[in-house]
Amino acid sequence: MITRQQVDQLLQFKNSQYLVTSCYLNLDRGQMPPQALKIRVKDLLQSARHSLHGKAGTHEQRQSLQRDFERIEEYVQQDILGNRHKALAAFSCDGEKFWQTYQLPYVVHNVLIADHAPYIRPLSVILAQQRRYCVVLVDRVHGQLFESYMGEILEHKELLGDVPRWVSEGGQGGRDERNIERCYVAAVHQHFQSVADAAFRLFKQHQFDSLVLGGHREVLMEFKEHLHTYLRERLVGEFTADPGRTNAAEVLRLTEEIEHRVAAEHERRLAGELVHKGAAGRAVSGMAATLTALSRGEAQLLLVEEGFESPGYICRSCQHLSHDVATCPQCDQPTEPCVDIVDEAVGLATARNCRIEHVRGVTLLREAGRIGALLRY
Ligand SMILES: [Zn+2]
Repeated sequence: MITRQQVDQLLQFKNSQYLVTSCYLNLDRGQMPPQALKIRVKDLLQSARHSLHGKAGTHEQRQSLQRDFERIEEYVQQDILGNRHKALAAFSCDGEKFWQTYQLPYVVHNVLIADHAPYIRPLSVILAQQRRYCVVLVDRVHGQLFESYMGEILEHKELLGDVPRWVSEGGQGGRDERNIERCYVAAVHQHFQSVADAAFRLFKQHQFDSLVLGGHREVLMEFKEHLHTYLRERLVGEFTADPGRTNAAEVLRLTEEIEHRVAAEHERRLAGELVHKGAAGRAVSGMAATLTALSRGEAQLLLVEEGFESPGYICRSCQHLSHDVATCPQCDQPTEPCVDIVDEAVGLATARNCRIEHVRGVTLLREAGRIGALLRY
């Protein structure tokens, strides 16, 4: 599972001696069968190899680059056979023994470049949108804690010690039924509390964004009473499950169903907010207005429909972006055509401290021009 430390390591990686190779690949097998994907990946690496070899100055740099390519190719070819992820990112600097991979939940542009620092913009955009989930499975005797992030699931067994058994030997309070009943109720409460406390410890360690509960409805009703307020506020969904019997793959599947519903609702709400605020002059939509707001630093949140690409123009002297002008309106210099102005807009948003959200599927953003921004004021 991708940890915050791993991402920090990547962000901090810079090297002047060797080049670091950054590779993003679309591996969506819904679009292409594995065999065709393998060939396409081979072609991409082949053409990058030709164009990048000139960039590596020294013999050592060239060798390091060569080994980066070999390692990436080997990894990708294996990953295509076994993966279910839609895309992949790999970063390699053989000279420094640096190697990281990320299995990504949605499609990215194919990119293969080498430079002294890793190319992290597409990854940062994806990571900024991913939510880390805590999943608690609970019944009156057992409890299990899971962490779910970007299509992976991990059980945290270390946080739940021996679960107190409510079946006490012989019964502390005598054998009459009311006492046994009272002991049972107290022990179940204690068990719920220890599971809830463990979930809160996990939250403090990993700062997950949302909580999902698995169990039976009436048990979960009782259990929720024991949750810390922070956790109750983060609860986004529940599913039916039995701790100890529902396996991790099933827990992941059920959690992902909830994740997709939560994400879709969130994205629909943002698209609605964009249209609503647009009417009041507090948001803009469409390429031209969005680019203007971004370059003026007025955008607080950039909304882009996933998969939206559009050619445009960029001014290399002042970085002004436009979708239909061949002379920079800001500095009168000639602009250069660029393949995808949306990608440049995302880069500009990052530089301007503007949050970026991708919206999947058909929402109100479609009619609004597939791109827009909420303004700061
Ligand atoms: Zn300019």
